[in-house]
Amino acid sequence: FSTATPITATLFPGDGIGPEIAESVKQIFTAAQIPIEWEEHFVGTEVDPRTQSFLTWESLESVRRNKVGLKGPMATSIGKGHRSLNLTLRKELNLYANVRPCFSLPGYKTRYDNVDLVTIRENTEGEYSGLEHQVVRGVVESIKIITRSASLRVAEHAFQYAKAHGRARVSAIHKANIMQKTDGLFLQCCREVAEKYPEIKYEEVVIDNCCMMLVKNPALFDVLVMPNLYGDIISDLCAGLIGGLGLTPSCNIGEGGIALAEAVHGSAPDIAGKNMANPTALLLSAVTMLRHLELNDKADIVQNAVLKTIAEGHYRTIDLGGKASTTDFTKAICDNL
Ligand code: NAD
Repeated sequence: FSTATPITATLFPGDGIGPEIAESVKQIFTAAQIPIEWEEHFVGTEVDPRTQSFLTWESLESVRRNKVGLKGPMATSIGKGHRSLNLTLRKELNLYANVRPCFSLPGYKTRYDNVDLVTIRENTEGEYSGLEHQVVRGVVESIKIITRSASLRVAEHAFQYAKAHGRARVSAIHKANIMQKTDGLFLQCCREVAEKYPEIKYEEVVIDNCCMMLVKNPALFDVLVMPNLYGDIISDLCAGLIGGLGLTPSCNIGEGGIALAEAVHGSAPDIAGKNMANPTALLLSAVTMLRHLELNDKADIVQNAVLKTIAEGHYRTIDLGGKASTTDFTKAICDNL
């Protein structure tokens, strides 16, 4: 991508604190002269029959056309007869991998100073396939689906990510000693992909042992790839290692090379409209989007300014123990660019 011509990216400000933190990202991107033009799309007020949700077909087409986007949190609306916004995006755009970089923020003290890992979660199947039923009264069944195609696809993404980001090792997380067929197939696919990347070390770690190792010494891991349920749990565990969901970014990878970055947290209705939200997670998500576009210099500029502002400690938002408003914190980041 040339930095001379701006790249169009879809922006969903989302609900609750979403518009406030999206505004912060826009201001910082403008101040840093990032060559991104935002195409803003809002959650509709009526169900679009073409998507069966409050997201319009045009919004989905915007992501398909631009192939990159940034998504603020979307509240799960109450009511029946339509699909959840997040599920609509995941299904319609076939967002098959969720990538969450997780690293210690210098100057923001937690139990660990040395976290620098990336979790890559299969996003479409496993226990989350939605296949549950009652066999007889008192006995229910939930079907875990693992397919060769989805496992190869997520494993391939993990190794490509490791290669592109100069990472040395990929660990496949599993329970194949018990789930011999399903997790066994997942591992088999990871092994096949690993053979194509001899320069990257490959290992397999059982999920329970992985949890113990992560909590004892997170520096033992680099890139972790895993089926859906394990990824859901492990990625939140990792967020906890560095200070919580307000700080952790993510990026969803979809069919046809789509990258839809999103903050992991929700719409925080308790603080919405009060200029109190911490925009860090959405900002660092926007940074993952820039890295996906190989705008690494620009990504570094924004990331360094965010980290410097947090490390200096003069302007920290309330969730990090400070007193700064969203707008104060945003201005301090712009000053640190
Ligand atoms: P939440 O993440 O919105 O809030 C949990 C707590 O964390 C609240 O106290 C909130 O104030 C705080 N918090 C979250 N983000 C923050 C930030 N950036 N700065 C400062 N504080 C922050 O979780 P919830 O209350 O369970 O969910 C609220 C709504 O968000 C629900 O409708 C839920 O469905 C939706 N949700 C959406 C997503 C998504 O779009 N990916 C993810 C999770 C929840």
